[in-house]
Amino acid sequence: MAFEGLTQRLQNAFNGLKRKGKVSESDVRDAMREIRLALLEADVNFDVVKEFVKTVRERAVGTEVLNSLTPAQQIVKIVHDELVKVMGDAAVPLNKSPHIPTVIMMVGLQGAGKTTTAGKLAKRLVDQEKARPLMIAADIYRPAAVDQLVTIGQQLDVPVFEMGTDHDPVEIVKQGLAQAAENKNDYVIIDTAGRLEIDEQLMQELSNIKALAQPNEILLVVDSMTGQVATQVAEGFNQQLDITGVVLTKLDGDTRGGAALSIRTVTGKPIKFVGQGEKLDALDVFYPDRMADRILG
Ligand code: GDP
Repeated sequence: MAFEGLTQRLQNAFNGLKRKGKVSESDVRDAMREIRLALLEADVNFDVVKEFVKTVRERAVGTEVLNSLTPAQQIVKIVHDELVKVMGDAAVPLNKSPHIPTVIMMVGLQGAGKTTTAGKLAKRLVDQEKARPLMIAADIYRPAAVDQLVTIGQQLDVPVFEMGTDHDPVEIVKQGLAQAAENKNDYVIIDTAGRLEIDEQLMQELSNIKALAQPNEILLVVDSMTGQVATQVAEGFNQQLDITGVVLTKLDGDTRGGAALSIRTVTGKPIKFVGQGEKLDALDVFYPDRMADRILG
């Protein structure tokens, strides 16, 4: 289950405080030590942990909290508030273009869930807005990525523009956009190539596609199971491409929580959606407060 270890350890820290009745500064210190370890073990970025613990401690040792009748509960609330804050406070909607089409470029490393998420997003737009998206298959390197997107398109009854794997991705995107203009599609979702790790050639290709397509949204898809690595990947893609948002996938697995809690602070970019399963309807808006509830258990 996602966040299991983190939830358990945070609850242990709170239970220690709750048993006390009256809470002293040194009790807060002990609890904060446990919370710090819990976050580090959940693979949260070190600087994020440091800042988080500092803020919670400062708020928790305030006399109003320690002198209150329910200090432990108040500290739980402070932790909740700060968890929400590091995840970005409120949900951030998709950027939209004032004229059609809104262009969404999906980027990420291989295996993160990019192609699946392109399909999930198309389905979401069709279901919620009766949108008429066109998906463009521009991942020509991963074997079967084009076929995978075509199959997803057939399942959803959403058109997919593809030119096989022998053309330059920038050319594919150019022709795909021309088709979208002709067919008056209101959204274009571009599935781009990934690699096993960030490399120069990949970034150059993505920059070229970005320059041509002028996307309203560059969504980075990252695998939440990879923890700190997901955070580093987000930092790398953001530096190169100035992404506009993140989709965190595989939250249905036993992810520890590090990516969800670090990415916003490290990149300054919002997590917009979370993937919670392999099926095409398993995409949800990322709500920081609900995620904090889930983490606290
Ligand atoms: P890409 O290489 O980034 O395009 O990755 P794919 O879209 O092919 O996804 C890689 C694998 O992850 C596939 O088996 C997907 O079904 C799976 N996957 C993607 N998103 C999720 C998710 O949110 N939860 C789970 N459990 N699996 C996912």
